[in-house]
Amino acid sequence: MIARSEPIWQSDDWQIVLKNSIRTLGDLCEAANIQIDELPIALQAEKSFRVMVPAPYLSRIEKGNPTDPLLLQVLPSAKEMLDVPGFVNDPLEEEQFTKVPGLIHKYHGRVLLISHAACAVHCRYCFRRHFPYSENALTQDQLIKVCEYIQADQSIHEVILSGGDPLMNKDEQLAKLISAIEAIPHVETLRVHTRLPIVIPERVTNGLLDLFKGTRLKVVMVIHANHANELDQAVATALYRLAEVSVRLLNQSVYLKGVNASLQGQLSLLRRLHHLDVQPYYLHLLDKTKGAAHYLVADELALEVYSQIQANLPGYLVPTLVREKPHELNKRRLDSR
Ligand code: SF4
Repeated sequence: MIARSEPIWQSDDWQIVLKNSIRTLGDLCEAANIQIDELPIALQAEKSFRVMVPAPYLSRIEKGNPTDPLLLQVLPSAKEMLDVPGFVNDPLEEEQFTKVPGLIHKYHGRVLLISHAACAVHCRYCFRRHFPYSENALTQDQLIKVCEYIQADQSIHEVILSGGDPLMNKDEQLAKLISAIEAIPHVETLRVHTRLPIVIPERVTNGLLDLFKGTRLKVVMVIHANHANELDQAVATALYRLAEVSVRLLNQSVYLKGVNASLQGQLSLLRRLHHLDVQPYYLHLLDKTKGAAHYLVADELALEVYSQIQANLPGYLVPTLVREKPHELNKRRLDSR
């Protein structure tokens, strides 16, 4: 049964969990009780993108199983060091859409803010693993410039908080950010892209809920879950708390070899999301980020599995299969029909 009781998490609980996260390949192997191949090369991969795995996420990994789908999302691999043609540092060429530091304006009607440089988990397939965060930090001065940009463009109705992970900001920092955004009359929607309610459910504090409850903006949260095993009871509680303050919950996932590329993996995820009242939104084909080629699923297989998802589930549980292209002004839909 899903717990609907008041949150038991205190405001700083999540920061303690974050502080105690696993941060080295050695510690991760020990905690997961595994050994890995080609350790010296995997250690080089670790140097290029360090390990970050908080305890709640770690607790859902099956110990002693080197192919656990949650482990494979965070485990540095020697395969990351292969130079694969077509896999680059900035696959979506976001730099060209950065209108002021910290703000990406690519799609009509909405802008994306890099609202925090850090994440609570380091996903090895991440398309922003090489992003120049230091050049795009949202300082107080930068926030003023970002707001001036949004203020001057009446077509912008939605502000997307991304990162890094926007919920890495403390509640007080988020309060300032939300207050600056909601002061712009033509902005109607605040969208938050985050993995924190999954990897550290304690992040859904009463303070955070109050912020969402108190804003005039319509709040949409896109959680990024790739596998049903990520969505345990603590996550369920966090999501119900968010829904209770009228946060609309969506999920997007990345189609990842070894993680969720099977029909069964997809069906389990989508049914679990349904159970938790989270609407499936996008299923992304992998962005071709340098170091992530081993997660790539061939288009033919992706389309085959997708058509099976459509055959097995009602339409409202089927996410849209998309690929993002750097020069296209909307995501490209792919389906088998
Ligand atoms: S931006 Fe998202 S996908 Fe990338 S490392 Fe952070 S949480 Fe993972």
